[in-house]
Amino acid sequence: MKRKTGNCQLCGEEAELTKDHLPQKGLYPSSIRSSLGNLNTVWACAPCNNSQNLIDEVVKVIVGPMATAPWKSEIEKSVSRTLENNHKLKKMFDEHTRFEVIDTAQGRREAGIFKLPPDKAKQFVAGVARIAKGLFFQQYGVPLVEKYEISLFHPQATDELQSELETAMMKGPWKSVNDGTIHYCFSRLPSYGMVCVINLFENVELCFSILEKGWREKYGISNALLEEYGPYGI
Ligand SMILES: [Zn+2]
Repeated sequence: MKRKTGNCQLCGEEAELTKDHLPQKGLYPSSIRSSLGNLNTVWACAPCNNSQNLIDEVVKVIVGPMATAPWKSEIEKSVSRTLENNHKLKKMFDEHTRFEVIDTAQGRREAGIFKLPPDKAKQFVAGVARIAKGLFFQQYGVPLVEKYEISLFHPQATDELQSELETAMMKGPWKSVNDGTIHYCFSRLPSYGMVCVINLFENVELCFSILEKGWREKYGISNALLEEYGPYGI
């Protein structure tokens, strides 16, 4: 494993670093992984690298089933294997996730609607936010946490935000890593802060708000409100 001393690209701390695949390698079944070129990596410290297996599995079983062709069947098989090997995760997944056909700007598609228990929701958000933090470093060359905080973003919060987000997503610019299995774009919304949209496997869209530290005070977001919205952010 490659090692060096330096500043962790995810948390900024100076430490002994190892090269970590981000998004995690485990998101890809080996059959797909072997057909991809170089996978995106970050240099990360031990706390940012360790104990990610469970989080990575939570992300995988939620994100995986929404993949589209040509990845769909291989990923579905791999998700089934993960769930067979982890009964607690399977129980949680069965109890809290359902799939529905929804209308989006790109047409009708199936989407996973999940309402996870708070501890699992936190794990999921931490897992996907980690991907966004890695891509932020890729784009800007500094760790996101130096100036910003990240949370999952509800684009439907207001019609104005929704329309600003749609405009930003049309404009891009979109970049991609891992042979087009992941597309992402960072953008500033006129009446809000920065957002990051990550599209996984051409179907799953994750949208994050990246706001300067102190945003809660600036936007008058109370801790009580955050509690109500949970770790999904605002
Ligand atoms: Zn770190």
